Amino acid sequence: MATTPSKRARAATRLKQLNYRARARIYLKDPLEAERNPRLYGDVIVSRDNLITTGPTSSRFIVVDYDPQTDRVERPARSKLVTAGAEKVLEFPCRRGSPQEAQVNAWATAVDALDLFQQALALGREVPWAFEGSRLRILPHASCEANAFYNRDTRALHFGYFYDPKGRVIKTSLSHDVVAHETAHAVLDGLRPFYLDAHEPDTGAFHEFIGDLAAMWRKATISGIWSVRSRRRSAPASMAMPIATSSELPAIP
Ligand SMILES: [Zn+2]
Repeated sequence: MATTPSKRARAATRLKQLNYRARARIYLKDPLEAERNPRLYGDVIVSRDNLITTGPTSSRFIVVDYDPQTDRVERPARSKLVTAGAEKVLEFPCRRGSPQEAQVNAWATAVDALDLFQQALALGREVPWAFEGSRLRILPHASCEANAFYNRDTRALHFGYFYDPKGRVIKTSLSHDVVAHETAHAVLDGLRPFYLDAHEPDTGAFHEFIGDLAAMWRKATISGIWSVRSRRRSAPASMAMPIATSSELPAIP
């Protein structure tokens, strides 16, 4: 049946209405660092995308929040349209410490890290994933262990959580450096899939280098963090940032 002009117009309007940017509150280091310095907890703007919805889900990522330790599927974060200055943006309101906070933090940080590679001053094009399908899965409570990794076979970034000696839960999905690092593994795998088959340690080291570079790269573009760190150390801020490889298993070299 042919679509009437009015139906097409309504569909076009709906699509236009969905084509928003999103604003998400994320940790620019991790929650423990943000306790000491509230400036490390701030907003990131996610690029305009007509597929941002509950999950969060967007055109390149989907959050799947199943915790095998508790056998629970957590309720996905829901978006809310709010006015920000002259435009409307999507937000994902969530309580600090909630599962939804981890969902939103990991998703927004991963989107932001991918954008760093795709921006005009870097590659200037869309990066393909190394698997069929358009979305990389984000598992914010993938396991109860001090570990995080990218796995091509599961098409996912796996983020574990663990407990410190004081009994506080530490979620790797809330660490900016860990999320950016793992996202970069997926980016490099999409660009150079045979690097995962290499037997030379140098190739694995290059993968780790790109991951660490992504974690530090964002820091160099956030002036607030730069100034915070620069006051403490004489070295450039981006070089002073801890990197995120210490908790990895060999799921990716
Ligand atoms: Zn790594």
